[in-house]
Amino acid sequence: MTVRRILTAVVFIVFAAKASAEDIQTIESLLRGDGTDVVLAGAAKVEITPDVENTEVWLAGYGNNRKAERVADPTWIRTFVIDVNDVRVSMSVIDCVGYGYDEVRAIRTEVMEKLNLSHVTICSTHTHSGPDTIGIWGPTFGLVPYRSGFDEGYRSFVREKAVESITKAVENLQPATIRAWQKKTGAEGFVRDSRRPHVIDDAMSVLSVTNPESNATIATIVNWSNHPETLPGESKLLSSDYPHFLREAIETGLSRTNPERYPNSTAEDFDGVGGVCLYFTGSVGGLMTPLDIPVTDPVTGTVIRENNYDKTRVLGQNLAEFAFRMMRDEEPQYVTPQLIVRTKQIVVPVTNTTFIIAARLGFLRREGGDPTKMTTEVGLIRIGEVSFMNIPGEIYPEIVIGGVENPEGADFPHEPEESPSLKELCPGRILMVNGLANDEIGYLIPHSEWDETAPNLYGANGSPYGEENSVGPEAGRTIYHSMAELFGASEGRPEEPADNGGEDF
Ligand SMILES: [Zn+2]
Repeated sequence: MTVRRILTAVVFIVFAAKASAEDIQTIESLLRGDGTDVVLAGAAKVEITPDVENTEVWLAGYGNNRKAERVADPTWIRTFVIDVNDVRVSMSVIDCVGYGYDEVRAIRTEVMEKLNLSHVTICSTHTHSGPDTIGIWGPTFGLVPYRSGFDEGYRSFVREKAVESITKAVENLQPATIRAWQKKTGAEGFVRDSRRPHVIDDAMSVLSVTNPESNATIATIVNWSNHPETLPGESKLLSSDYPHFLREAIETGLSRTNPERYPNSTAEDFDGVGGVCLYFTGSVGGLMTPLDIPVTDPVTGTVIRENNYDKTRVLGQNLAEFAFRMMRDEEPQYVTPQLIVRTKQIVVPVTNTTFIIAARLGFLRREGGDPTKMTTEVGLIRIGEVSFMNIPGEIYPEIVIGGVENPEGADFPHEPEESPSLKELCPGRILMVNGLANDEIGYLIPHSEWDETAPNLYGANGSPYGEENSVGPEAGRTIYHSMAELFGASEGRPEEPADNGGEDF
């Protein structure tokens, strides 16, 4: 039994009296429930494919010196905007390896006042076949990088297109109804964890935003956790990776069957839902990867082990099929679009010398000028029963769903600190992780799993992969505690979902 609380719409910015929460910024728009509520949503997609013919485009995510040779599929910035009783929030996602806080703030300055936005979030899909938008994947002489991989021309182009995408989404605002689903995909055929402890957050969440008058789809938001790296480090193809095929299928449909040629096919065809599909990447640290896993093409029964563009297509389409089946077969949760956004700016200590050198060389440009500190932001966006945790990097799933360990060989022997898990603490019924939200500060590793010095974790010879792509051992627990603080700030706010007959998840 749930209780619907009817609250007067309020819009305010709070600097809470509680000392620990003094820097938390809160924006709220609660439903009045008296028939005068206005809920609008809009979406847009703008292409940002770089010109690989006439400019040098350095692919980011694996090693350096990967000059793009050919475009396999386009890259985009896609935006969803929701407006509840004139409180307007936008969420964008860019096909790139990561997008820094300085860039996000520059875009906020351009759009917030002009478009009457209360909050702007910009995430990255983390594709490993997209252009360098951080700066550390440029060309090298031997091992020494001599130029940033983030081209200035492309930097301003992406800013311009981000503004265009958000503007178009605002122009597209129309009455909206929101339904949500969540279901675990399982790991087999989808994802593996390359580092112990083996913890995978395999929940796929789907939000369908439709116009209640025309029934037309405005946006479909898909959230799932895996590295978009079906293509290997040697690949020179520019691609959004599997999110491309997933989004394309959701928008335009899946037509993979041919009963005469493939009588044993287990694939099904689905009509596209139209609108704009946005794919948000979740908790991918640890490391979640499709590399080397067998992915089965349900049409032919072919098992693809190689890391190639066939795997990109089949994984994306299999995920779309999973989403289509979920929307068709499972009872949706109807979302009461009460809007609450909480954000907090935080400082994360940087001890990783590679990051410090990259900053000193100017490849990693951050405001403030002190390369031993990174100013970043955590956030929580609640649309009624749905919560998006904005996490500015690649979080290890055990911090999100539980299972942090303190194995023998860890550098800091103490009880797991990031517990209870973020999903246990987060308010709401459908909990989604916006990984690489408003920043990319690298891996967020549980403090008690940090391992740079011998002896090593679980008796291994040598330290595991991960620490070299983290700013330092404090990053994981700093983000965890900051998120927990945001959730704690929800006390006294409406936690009870509306009584709408939806299913529990
Ligand atoms: Zn990564």
